Amino acid sequence: MIFQDPYASLDPRMTVGDIIGEAIDIHKLMGAKEREERIQYLLNRVGLNSEHASRYPHEFSGGQRQRIGIARALAVQPEFIICDEPISALDVSIQAQVVNMLEDLQSDLGLTYLFIAHDLSMVKHISNRVGVMYLGKLVELAESNELYTKPLHPYTQALLSAIPIPDPDESAKKKRIVLEGEIPSPIDPPPGCRFKNRCRYAKPICSEQEPVFKDMGGGHFVACHLY
Ligand code: SF4
Repeated sequence: MIFQDPYASLDPRMTVGDIIGEAIDIHKLMGAKEREERIQYLLNRVGLNSEHASRYPHEFSGGQRQRIGIARALAVQPEFIICDEPISALDVSIQAQVVNMLEDLQSDLGLTYLFIAHDLSMVKHISNRVGVMYLGKLVELAESNELYTKPLHPYTQALLSAIPIPDPDESAKKKRIVLEGEIPSPIDPPPGCRFKNRCRYAKPICSEQEPVFKDMGGGHFVACHLY
């Protein structure tokens, strides 16, 4: 897993080498020499250098710390990595570097990422398939291009309408869907559809029955009584 906060997710009392090597030790994957070599390799792979292994997290910038977090996630040669908002705590100037590195690692090492993010432009850039969640439930799932061009769920439509457009003329033409209504408590969700008090298409059945997650064809799933 790669965590959101590169400050809180690295133990300040451990050296970078021990942070990266910890999972190798826990799983007893390799001997001391091989472990050292693997740590050096991983540091180089994420754009740091071998000398950094003996330093402590406070000696690094936010972007470098996130690189250490990525090296740690790669230490046990995973096939699947959960990236929990891995760039949202970084400066915008660093975000692109880290995303490009994640993409290079993905193609070189054949990784699968579950990439959790709120930045919809970034989600579009990095994802093959996108799942949209509302109040802890998946409401829509589709190939990235399909979801961005033909969103079905009213919540997805509202989210996509909020993506800023850098061209002022284009932006003025775009109609934004503004959601109203309170967000219900996720620990005590209302019966029926969880989105019903903010949905402009809500009808009586939405308060009575929770919509099932339906396959609309071509791997496009949606949970909504409109379909
Ligand atoms: S199920 Fe009803 S309330 Fe929920 S998103 Fe669909 S139309 Fe709106």
